[in-house]
Amino acid sequence: MIVNFCLTVDDVGYEGYSSEPHFANLLEFFQQEGIRATFFTVPLDKGVPVSRRPGYIELLERATVEGHEIAQHGLEHDRFEVGIPPPMIMEMPHEEPARKRLASQRASIDASLETDRIRARLAAGRRIIEDAVENQVVGFRAPCLATCDSLFQALELEGYAYDSSRYLQEAGWEILNGKKPPEFRPINREAYERLQYPGRLLSFPLTTEYTWKLSWRKFETTFDLARHDFLACMQANIPFVTLSHVSPIQEGEGDSGFEFYRRLLAFAKEQATADGRQLKVATLSELSREARQNKCRTREANDRSRRAWVRSCGVWHTRR
Ligand SMILES: [Zn+2]
Repeated sequence: MIVNFCLTVDDVGYEGYSSEPHFANLLEFFQQEGIRATFFTVPLDKGVPVSRRPGYIELLERATVEGHEIAQHGLEHDRFEVGIPPPMIMEMPHEEPARKRLASQRASIDASLETDRIRARLAAGRRIIEDAVENQVVGFRAPCLATCDSLFQALELEGYAYDSSRYLQEAGWEILNGKKPPEFRPINREAYERLQYPGRLLSFPLTTEYTWKLSWRKFETTFDLARHDFLACMQANIPFVTLSHVSPIQEGEGDSGFEFYRRLLAFAKEQATADGRQLKVATLSELSREARQNKCRTREANDRSRRAWVRSCGVWHTRR
């Protein structure tokens, strides 16, 4: 039996949180570790499409060749382009301008979050990324995890396979915001099921952010949280989806961000093996393909048992 570990990285192409050298370092790191990740890419940065930035195009092509997934992260990474960020993100120190904007412009922000307008933003962003990488984009994550009901309708109508904007664990942001002690939320099957959508759109909720400018002082508490989350996901048999950002994972103390994942991957492998299972580091599009195949198999199995039941009824009637 498999334990799924999905490493996801946000903000590719979003200056201030991503740079070409940092993106290249990440690709090196993943190559050394022999793992594949999902890169959520910002289509438009200050009016410039990622498809017109040769450095990023080259790195995105390399990422695709090396088996990583390129998915979509909003349109311009405006805080309110597809929803409203959750409180623990709005509370982060660097979100002061967003807090002010939300307080003064709430009515116009709400009015702009209408399904058709969100659909247009999604489609425009998707076209830009598909232009840059010549690969179909099937997954979406909202900037700052800003969501609303219209976003999920829009994603469904636009035919995305999955969304990864929902989250299972707030404690990562509590550590970042200096809350002591952080409250580790329980993660279980019920919590995961509550975050699923009613239609065809799959939801792969992330746990939390562990490596945002990580200091050695916060390393052990954050690592305890990651261990807690991984074990809970493994026990509930749900994918463990982590969140990192292109530059902040490399802007902690020394090598802390990469060291964190080296240790976490080793721990996860050890735990899966001890449980008689195999750790699989997968992209989210792989998970979505598998989930659909499983659904088809379950449907076929149900059809087969229904046919068998009808046949057995027929036999029973004939005998009578
Ligand atoms: Zn982002």
